[in-house]
Amino acid sequence: MPVKKAHPEADSPHGDIAAAETFVGTGPTDHPDLAERESRWNYALVGSGLGVWDHNYRLNRKYYSPTWKTIRGMAPDEDVAGDYEAWLQLVHPDDRDFVVHAIERQNAGDPEYQVFQYRERHRDGRWIWIDCRGACVEWDENGVPTRVVGTDTDITARKEAEETLSRLSRRLDLALEISRIGVFEADIENDVVEWDDRLIAIYGMQGAARKIGGDAWAKRLHPDDRERVLDLADRSVESGSDFQQEYRIIRGDGVERIIRARSAFFVDGNGQRKLIGANWDVTEEVALRDELQRAKDLAEARNRELEAAKESIEYLALHDYLTGLPNRRYLDKMLDDRAAECRANGLALAILHIDLDRFKQINDTLGHRAGDAMLQHAAHVLRHSVRAADFVARIGGDEFVILCAVDPASMKIANLAERLIRELRRPVRYEGHDCRFGASIGIAVNGGAKLDAKQTLLDADIALYRAKGLGRNRFEFFSASARDDIVSAKRLADQILIGLDRHEFVPFYQLQFDAGTLDVAGVETLARWQHPVHGLLTPDRFLDIAEDLDVVSTIDALILERALADRRTWIKEGLSIPKISVNVSARRLTDPDLGKKLRALKIEPGAVAFELLESISLDDCDKAVAANLKKLRKLGIDIHIDDFGTGHASIVSLLRLSPNTLKIDRELIRMLPQSAEQRKLVGSIIDIGRSLNILVIAEGVETADHIRILEQLGCDTLQGYALARPMPATQIPSFIRAGSWRHGLTAARALQTHLRRALPSRTAK
Ligand code: C2E
Ligand code: CA
Ligand code: CA
Repeated sequence: MPVKKAHPEADSPHGDIAAAETFVGTGPTDHPDLAERESRWNYALVGSGLGVWDHNYRLNRKYYSPTWKTIRGMAPDEDVAGDYEAWLQLVHPDDRDFVVHAIERQNAGDPEYQVFQYRERHRDGRWIWIDCRGACVEWDENGVPTRVVGTDTDITARKEAEETLSRLSRRLDLALEISRIGVFEADIENDVVEWDDRLIAIYGMQGAARKIGGDAWAKRLHPDDRERVLDLADRSVESGSDFQQEYRIIRGDGVERIIRARSAFFVDGNGQRKLIGANWDVTEEVALRDELQRAKDLAEARNRELEAAKESIEYLALHDYLTGLPNRRYLDKMLDDRAAECRANGLALAILHIDLDRFKQINDTLGHRAGDAMLQHAAHVLRHSVRAADFVARIGGDEFVILCAVDPASMKIANLAERLIRELRRPVRYEGHDCRFGASIGIAVNGGAKLDAKQTLLDADIALYRAKGLGRNRFEFFSASARDDIVSAKRLADQILIGLDRHEFVPFYQLQFDAGTLDVAGVETLARWQHPVHGLLTPDRFLDIAEDLDVVSTIDALILERALADRRTWIKEGLSIPKISVNVSARRLTDPDLGKKLRALKIEPGAVAFELLESISLDDCDKAVAANLKKLRKLGIDIHIDDFGTGHASIVSLLRLSPNTLKIDRELIRMLPQSAEQRKLVGSIIDIGRSLNILVIAEGVETADHIRILEQLGCDTLQGYALARPMPATQIPSFIRAGSWRHGLTAARALQTHLRRALPSRTAK
């Protein structure tokens, strides 16, 4: 640096030390020691980048070393004018006043200004920072400096580094300020921790010293967290691993806060182990986090509830509440799935359609709770008789369906059906009663690419219908002919219902005769269906189907009404028919309203008899039937036991019914002429009847032989084609008036007498 004139005449260049660089090794002195010393200096100065200047005011010489010049972008051998004002123009305008002042103070020997820094323009136009060191070395007699010597160093790079550093630290400071992060540095060996202001504020320890003992922090820890956190901190100190924690503190002002801490180890320049760390207050963040977590938990819980509700709704929609089995809807959904599985695995789909037999009676007699218990029992049996992969559904009242994938060749399905029937027939104990029911099963098995599950289910249904028709408690496989039967039965069923509406069911009458006198003793009413296409149909064509449709009671009732009306007509016409008997179905006898319905008909006592099938009512005569029988007797309606001798009713149970009449079945009558045994049997029935005061009617009296034998056996009444065929009401008066049964009989008898005489040896008896 050129120094401001300290001395008015000291303005010419060239200084003593000029020799320093210019004359390295070839100094002006020829003293070898001195030369060596000089060269050593030169090297040191050049090596350290110091540019030397020497202002000698007494000699008016100014010297600038080559380094001094290169610092400023000059050529090392360039001449320097040494003009102070010109040089000052090169100083940064902001530094100029300071530089003027500093030079004055340096010249004055002020130690404060021995070193100062400023900016100067480089030849290439940029600013460089110069570190100027100088000192006055000679004074005149008045103490005015006459020689000032010094060095300039280019410290631009250092200044830039300093600038970068302060920029970084400003940034860091700002970041810490904004994020309110407090920082500490712990000297582990000496147990001293230096806290910054923010850390002090976070811990509410305003007024505390910045350097405090390690235990100050420990004291602020929340009592419940202290042990844990200190333990972790100790461990992290021992292992030298980073520490990262969240804990509560009690601030200096007593407020509880949550702190998040992170710290890292390092070894400082002196080899001291230190821990530097940051703490920040996350109380609000944690509160928010907890709040969010709670909200999330709540939402999840609600979702789970919704999910559960949805599941239970879906479950309910697809299951039967009583047995817990899948329901009809579920079955419908399942059919195609199972069919697809079977197709994929080369298996056949077997569908078992199961219907409980006698279930309705249990429901009717023991009540719905018993019925429910039986259904649950049946569901249990089914579920536990099949493989886990098989699908069991309850599809209606007492109907179940099982879907199984089976090997088309195996017979296992028949075995399964047999087992199911066996299991379901076992009596079930319910409130002191042994409940018995059975099961009919229809089975359809289909496989192959064209497997249609819905059709298979229909086939199983048809097979079930057949199983029931063939006597229940059995299983049937689907067959096409069964399907055809069912289709026509179905058609007939529809027609029956229409026929009832159109009054197509009418009574026919078959007269009965006194065996001794052959006078008319009564008339049996027999139902006929005047079919619009097929003509007159007898009960064997429609009765079973009507039974399935549950309309036999309806038919019985309307036949009785019509019969009573016809009887009134006959009486008006002067005909005397002592008794009309009507056939009564089992179902009608269980009708609790039967008494009321009959009273409404105002039946003349002794005029009507009800024919009950021996098989229907004698053994398990339930309460409803017994009550109805009592009412019948009260109304003066006789009871006839129909088809007697075919069932297996015991005489004792027969007595309990105290019937007025027994009707011996056609089958027993038919063989009378040929079979002595049969004659004996019929004879003893007649004897029993007589001893119990019960009349005996013989049915199916087809020949004169029948008439003669029955007369001889003491039978009371005869009914059969030999005497009269069933006929419409309108034909009855003329038939009776004609009395032709007597003529026909006389002729038959004459013929028989004749034959007997001709062939005496072959006469029976
Ligand atoms: P059932 O009560 O034993 O009726 C007698 C059946 O024998 C009648 O057949 C009748 O036509 C037939 N029959 C009469 N005399 C002779 C004979 O000498 N030889 C032969 N082989 N048969 C004779 P139908 O009318 O076809 O009735 C059949 C069955 O239908 C009846 O048997 C009865 O159980 C039932 N049934 C008829 N009408 C009704 C009715 O209105 N209600 C109910 N619930 N069942 C009825
Ligand atoms: Ca009858
Ligand atoms: Ca009969």
